[in-house]
Amino acid sequence: MKDLTPMMKQYINIKDKYKDCILFFRLGDFYEMFFDDASIAAKELEITLTKREIGNKKKAPMCGVPYHAADSYISKLIKKGYKVAICEQLEDPSEAKGIVERDVVRVVTPGTITDLKALDEKSNNFLASIYLGDKGVGLSYVDISTGEFYTTEYYGNTKDNTNFIIDELGKTIPSEVMLSERLFQNKKIMKIIENNINPHIEVYDDSEYELSDCIEKIEKHFGSNSITKFELNNKNYSIISIWILLSYLFKTQKTTLEHINKIFFYSVKNYMFLDINTRINLEINETIRGKEKKGSLMWLLDNTSTAMGGRLLKKWLEQPLVARDKIEYRLEIVENFIEDIMLMDEVKNSLKNIYDLERIMSKIIYGSCNARDLISLKNSLSELPKLKQTLINSDSIGLTDLGNKIDPLDDIFSLIDKSITDEPPISVREGGIIKAEFDDRLKELREAAIKGKEWLANLEEQEKKKTGIKTLKVSYNKVFGYFIEVSKSYLKLVPNNYIRKQTLANSERYFVPELKEMEAKILGAEERMVDLEYNLFINIRNKIKSEVERIQKVSRIISKVDVLNSFAQVAYKNNYVRPKLNNNGIIDIRNGRHPVVEKTLKENSFVPNDTYLDNKENRTIIITGPNMAGKSTYMRQVALITLMAQVGSFIPADEGNIGVVDRIFTRIGASDNLAQGESTFMVEMNEVSNIIKNATENSLIILDEVGRGTSTFDGLSIAWSVIEYINENIRAKTLFATHYHELTQLENELEGIKNYTILVEEKGKEIIFLRKIVKGSTDKSYGIEVARLAGINQDIINRADEILNNIERNEKPREYIEIKNENHNDNDNDNEKKKNNLKQLDLFQYKSEEFINKVKDLDIIKLT
Ligand code: ADP
Repeated sequence: MKDLTPMMKQYINIKDKYKDCILFFRLGDFYEMFFDDASIAAKELEITLTKREIGNKKKAPMCGVPYHAADSYISKLIKKGYKVAICEQLEDPSEAKGIVERDVVRVVTPGTITDLKALDEKSNNFLASIYLGDKGVGLSYVDISTGEFYTTEYYGNTKDNTNFIIDELGKTIPSEVMLSERLFQNKKIMKIIENNINPHIEVYDDSEYELSDCIEKIEKHFGSNSITKFELNNKNYSIISIWILLSYLFKTQKTTLEHINKIFFYSVKNYMFLDINTRINLEINETIRGKEKKGSLMWLLDNTSTAMGGRLLKKWLEQPLVARDKIEYRLEIVENFIEDIMLMDEVKNSLKNIYDLERIMSKIIYGSCNARDLISLKNSLSELPKLKQTLINSDSIGLTDLGNKIDPLDDIFSLIDKSITDEPPISVREGGIIKAEFDDRLKELREAAIKGKEWLANLEEQEKKKTGIKTLKVSYNKVFGYFIEVSKSYLKLVPNNYIRKQTLANSERYFVPELKEMEAKILGAEERMVDLEYNLFINIRNKIKSEVERIQKVSRIISKVDVLNSFAQVAYKNNYVRPKLNNNGIIDIRNGRHPVVEKTLKENSFVPNDTYLDNKENRTIIITGPNMAGKSTYMRQVALITLMAQVGSFIPADEGNIGVVDRIFTRIGASDNLAQGESTFMVEMNEVSNIIKNATENSLIILDEVGRGTSTFDGLSIAWSVIEYINENIRAKTLFATHYHELTQLENELEGIKNYTILVEEKGKEIIFLRKIVKGSTDKSYGIEVARLAGINQDIINRADEILNNIERNEKPREYIEIKNENHNDNDNDNEKKKNNLKQLDLFQYKSEEFINKVKDLDIIKLT
């Protein structure tokens, strides 16, 4: 240390406090990194690694990025899972005595990034904290790019608490999660979190958080009495998790965070419960296979015009409602839009011009907004009066009410309109951003500058005349300031009072004392103007900053109108209808369609189907039918229609009466968790156990081929007893697709169970899928026909046919294995089999090296 240069000493002292971050150390126009940080950054950012002398002839690795391009480099590092501490020069280097004072002004982490280019505009970027107490869990999450702050808590046994954590994280998909050491050491939870969400993990010490202290600190930020105002009294676990989050924000963001001024407490009871598997299986946010937005429910329903609306829609889909009046409120407004298509389009066109107010606000709070952002804000605000009037004038009670609640923010509009030039530059430090009429001092300076320029123009004319030099010019450059330029051929005519300043190849440059004086005046005015404009800009920004709550309120109304308008657009385009709602537990759908599958097929080729479920005679539906018949599509369709109705959207059907459900559960094959070290069957049983523990009479359960991951008899027995149990003890509405036709006997044995099948037509060896669900059952699986359709080798198909025939004649395939055993003594029976040419196919006939290597190279985690 003692050998280091003073600057490197300063570096080491600062870096010591930010060991887990890459330190961006400001040196003039660059952010420099040293030592290990430099090696990592050079590799990750693909920039050149150099060396810098650090004292006593020693050198350290170094790399750097220009300050004006830093954002994109920081985002890159954050995406790769690093945290970045930004260390600035805190004083003007030209005024510093000795070493320039420096310190970290902000730490950027995955959950606190605000660079808009790095964020998905239609998704929130959440930072979450989890507090695990003795009796339950408190969970909070915040999006600092929008100012939203949510909290909830849950009290249950260890397993329930774990499920709560996983399901809530599965809903919000935070990019950074704060966990206590105890949770971090819990391998099971960590594995699930990493596999399904994969956030950046920040570990905190829970001994540092004590309830009364948390309350005091929270009230200090949100105002006295805020615990009561936000309905957080006695929500102790929530309170602790809130302060864990907030204290981390203060530590890393080092700003006052005015835009985080409200906490929304929610209880999971007020929303339809969807566990993490159901969210994945129903492809709400992304598809299972490609993990793409295209093909998901969100993709289908998102016709929003603003980024804020897009984010709200996502939230609504994460949390369908259960209160009928709240759902009806949304449905009513969607219907009002559809009844008045002109209104629907007019509102959409208005919304299109509204920029992301929430994120502009956070830029204003962070001081990173420039004059162009304020122009975007102004343009957005200019839509408000019109939008407000359109809503108020509509025939819709709901929309009129929302219109009345819109604060048109005239004052903020006119402040920006009066002050900011119409096309300001990006930089706020170079002038040209404030209108001269806005401030008398600025006006004077500008006039002085203009006058000065006029004087210069006059000087040129005057000197030309006086000297007779036709090509004489008065010009300016940054190094030499103002000068008089005379080309070589006229040098003889240059008067004595001209003082030489610079010689060029074809000309000479001069100045005269009056020019020097005027130069000082003009440049002084320009410099003062830039300073003044910057100060005025900061004032304007601060004025807007103090109105953050009003702007946030308007943003919330705009988002709501946008989502409801989007529902209307989608419903209108796709012929959806308004669902009726009931609390009698009846789900009655006429000609329902799967909203996403129907979009992937040719127009009108999707075959609609009815559904009738209740809590009495029709609570368990057993669906049989061949593979590819459409069982799974049908069951998901019922779940999606129910979910859409409870979100407040119209539904793809001719008619629907939906009994509000409290939870939807799905157990659908294929979501194998091999990566979590569990076999397919184990995963399936875990999921079934979770469903049985949590489902109620008001739940909707979708079970697709439960029991197939084990031997036929085991599987059948389990499937049988699961159905019995759900039907008799839980009495939830259940759709159960199966290939075990034995299960169809249950219809005659238990009240509440009904058999359905999806029709197919046989044409010789071919089958035609009719996709129509009807009462009754089938004992045919058509597995071999489907295998043929899938293009499986004809030899295998023929052999499968043969085996099937034999099995159907009650013979066991085991006997054929014995034929293959060459040491086995032939007996009459075996000879008989041989005559029938029943050979066991050799599973290993493809045992080439290439084949084995291919199997070895398979990435089983990515297999679907
Ligand atoms: P199963 O679960 O019975 O094996 P799926 O539900 O996976 O069958 O359906 C297989 C395919 O059949 C789907 O991908 C879809 O393209 C098509 N399909 C399913 N239901 C319908 C329908 N009602 N109308 C038209 N095509 C359908």
